[in-house]
Amino acid sequence: MSATDLTRLNAAEMATLLASREISSVELTRAHLARITQVDGIVHAFLQTLPEVALREAQTADADRAAGEQLPTLAGVPIAVKDVLATKGLRTTCGSRILENWVPAYDATVVRKLREARLPVLGKTNMDEFAMGSSTEHSAYGPTLNPWDTKRVPGGSGGGSAAAVGAFEAPLALGSDTGGSIRQPAALTGTVGVKPTYGGVSRYGLVAMASSLDQVGPCARTVLDAALLHEVIGGHDPKDQTSLDAPVPPVVAAARQGLSGDVRGLRVGVVAELGGRGYQRGVLDRFEEALASLEGLGMSVREVSCPSFKFALPAYYLIMPSEASSNLARFDAMRYGIRVAPAEGPVTVETVMAATRAAGFGDEVKRRIMLGTYALSAGYYDAYYGSAQKVRTLVQRDFENAWEDVDVLISPTTPTTAFPLGDKLDDPLAMYIQDVATIPVNLAGIPGISVPGGLAEDGLPVGVQILAPARADAYLYQVGGALEAALHEKWGGPLLDQAPALETTTQEGGAL
Ligand code: GLN
Repeated sequence: MSATDLTRLNAAEMATLLASREISSVELTRAHLARITQVDGIVHAFLQTLPEVALREAQTADADRAAGEQLPTLAGVPIAVKDVLATKGLRTTCGSRILENWVPAYDATVVRKLREARLPVLGKTNMDEFAMGSSTEHSAYGPTLNPWDTKRVPGGSGGGSAAAVGAFEAPLALGSDTGGSIRQPAALTGTVGVKPTYGGVSRYGLVAMASSLDQVGPCARTVLDAALLHEVIGGHDPKDQTSLDAPVPPVVAAARQGLSGDVRGLRVGVVAELGGRGYQRGVLDRFEEALASLEGLGMSVREVSCPSFKFALPAYYLIMPSEASSNLARFDAMRYGIRVAPAEGPVTVETVMAATRAAGFGDEVKRRIMLGTYALSAGYYDAYYGSAQKVRTLVQRDFENAWEDVDVLISPTTPTTAFPLGDKLDDPLAMYIQDVATIPVNLAGIPGISVPGGLAEDGLPVGVQILAPARADAYLYQVGGALEAALHEKWGGPLLDQAPALETTTQEGGAL
């Protein structure tokens, strides 16, 4: 098999060929490193690649397998990791200047789990600074481009992970989702992204943005691949106080069940408030078709109203900055990252801290720190933060009411397809609106998946979002798998098969 053919396999297919020793992990890892060399000059999905580390991990996986050791399912399948996750001895920047020299002394729990499951780590992926954004344009290291159209954004904050998977630079990646940063980039790049139940995957070693909303999750090209990765990273972690003390839900079995078309009897609710006005025509058209496919498989469909969702976005933009302003206080020029001396005047703890934060944080991060500090200040706490917390409760109640009538909820993942670079950079509200459909999920702590739903009238991918009750992550994979199988049959293969060849774009000069 040629190197290109290897990178086009799914993770599940790679795992089978590795287990039967028809291919080696070194071969597979080399093929991906070559692909990265070929296209990442254009896509810029990676902030850092780790060829030596990855090849060493691949070699030991191969050697242990050759020695007859029984290895975990995904052993030898390479993966990319969002640069928001701490990697021991390897630079972790969070897309920020302030951490440009930070080398963590420990691995995030999910990274440790990847190592234990023997997945070679190809590199760290680009992201909006501290995961704040919906386009990856807020990275201090330049934007990532959408593999479908290099003049457009791949979504954010995890645009690097989604683009790496969509551009066949990695079969799998890890992301983090505070308000949509796994699902929205998945939608915009024609890939699969999952935000697990809050507490279902450890946050230890995830650089915190808003701790009550943050969740690590899988990025992949298929629902089954996402499930296989979810199984590796999920489960209880005593190092994370909010970790659920429960086994990983049966996500792989659920994905397989769904892929066989078995969703009969499940009830799906269409969220009335997530769709209609403000949503692109082609997004709504593909969404309607996805619904029809699920109905065709024997699912009952009804409309469900979640009236408080209209307040979810404003509530999120009070709660998230409040928590972020508190979390980011740790970047004080003393404990982590860069230290900048003031240009003039006395050198004190305060002036060094101010100079460092002024130089180290980008505009969007500063905006949110100021917003959050304001919302938490004594005179305004009740009016802003307090009210937002009440809305959060209302959003949770809307979901609880919905679960009395349906098993899963469904909506478009985003209002539009991928937008042009620079389009929303000067208009924070336009950027924030991108997450209108993904944010309620984080406020309620429930799981959500985005699955490719087809191409809109502009030829760009559309995402379909499926939501389930807390701890019922398996439903996402069952219904997502069924939808994927039905749509692949309709399209004659995966959506990514229809993406333009990046190599050609490169020759034409791409967007840069
Ligand atoms: N785009 C949203 C924000 O900017 C969500 C980010 C995220 O999920 N990390 O806050």
